[in-house]
Amino acid sequence: MATTLISGGTVVTATGRSAADVLVDGEKIAAVLAPGSTLLGHDLAASVDTVLDATGKYVIPGGIDAHTHMQMPFGGTEASDTFETGTRAAAWGGTTTIVDFAIQRYGERVMDGLAAWHDKAAGECAIDYGFHQIIGDVNDDSLKAMESLVDEGVSSYKLFMAYPGVFYSDDAQIYKAMRVGAETGLMTMMHAENGPAIDAMVAELLAQGKTDPYYHGVARAWQMEEEATHRAIMLANLTGAPLYVVHVSAKQAVEQLAAARDNGQNVFGETCPQYLYLSLEDQLGAGGFEGAKWVCSTPLRSKHEHHQDHMWQSLRTNDIQMVATDHCPFCMKGQKDMGVGDFSKIPNGIGSVEHRMDLMYQGVVDGKISLERWVEITSTTPARMFGMYGAKGVIAPGADADVVIYDPNGHTSIGLDKTHHMNMDYSAWEGFEIEGHVDTVMSRGRVVINNNEYLGSKGHGQYVRRSTSQYLV
Ligand SMILES: [Zn+2]
Repeated sequence: MATTLISGGTVVTATGRSAADVLVDGEKIAAVLAPGSTLLGHDLAASVDTVLDATGKYVIPGGIDAHTHMQMPFGGTEASDTFETGTRAAAWGGTTTIVDFAIQRYGERVMDGLAAWHDKAAGECAIDYGFHQIIGDVNDDSLKAMESLVDEGVSSYKLFMAYPGVFYSDDAQIYKAMRVGAETGLMTMMHAENGPAIDAMVAELLAQGKTDPYYHGVARAWQMEEEATHRAIMLANLTGAPLYVVHVSAKQAVEQLAAARDNGQNVFGETCPQYLYLSLEDQLGAGGFEGAKWVCSTPLRSKHEHHQDHMWQSLRTNDIQMVATDHCPFCMKGQKDMGVGDFSKIPNGIGSVEHRMDLMYQGVVDGKISLERWVEITSTTPARMFGMYGAKGVIAPGADADVVIYDPNGHTSIGLDKTHHMNMDYSAWEGFEIEGHVDTVMSRGRVVINNNEYLGSKGHGQYVRRSTSQYLV
């Protein structure tokens, strides 16, 4: 087995930082050592196969993006990143594990959906991957199948309160599914928006001739998110199901989560980089059809209502526990442009899997979160939340050698003709200048990115079997 010494860096975990060398043996971290340690009197650096110099840099656990949609069918098309291109782009950005969503559609069987997603991902991924299970048709058969998910290494499932006729579950279905969640320890993930009311508002706006992408944000008002979040929390309270609300964007929804947590409920919230940096006015309202680039659900919120500041604050105070991307890319040409003249036909989604670690590091640069909190919200908490901690999310002996060497003095210019490896014809982050740079990425002991070169290969990434959430007692 090949050995590697990552020497001279500052090892950062969720709980602290220290000058340390990291010894990697095969796929695992073998030791975290005082700098310059010797091995039975021998210079360790001279004994290993490879030395990676991390002097002046941070050595962090690889990022875990717990919300991605590679090649997901949506709105008559399919997300433009495959498992191959999407996981390669993730690696470029310092992410070494994704958790994607297997889908059961209406009329389909749950285990058939899971098997289909295994087929899509197997042998394609550059980094490790796991699955959450979307339950798009809650019925007696799928409720039964849910009981077997944990045995499949799938410890979380997702319901939608939005998208009637596609993924939507009504309150009775949510109640029934959550009962199974409470019994099995499956984490209930919720897309919390009031879909039927949104669809009524969409129809009104279109009838008034308001067809631009901007109105996507108007129709999906914060009240729709707050109401659904509250309803999900109450159903979870009633059933005893743990609840994880995905892509929270409205500060009012955060307030609902915070109140439930203060009340002792096992309720968690995820936000995404777009809700921390982008807005209804500046992006969705960019003019004409340009705003289609940022059509995603939940939508970007008004900068005049200070949702973005509130979200940063919530990350600091742990009212929001982690950051994923909801990576779901579509090209403007041939995909987003299906919605010219009707914003409701624009495929929903933004591509960010490559930039999450860099974008969140800017919170450290700006003094909004600590260095340790950066590691926690991008890696350690996702690992614990979704039953991977120990193997993932930490730099410690016995953990998988998923390691990123991050240069705080480096620089990354985001743009389509600069750093861009996602399979898209635009960047939602065009022009962002990042302080910091992903220098080296190791996935289970193999260097997959080094000094702006991709050294990985498809098929290296393995399926991660997950246990139930380590936040539940
Ligand atoms: Zn999503």
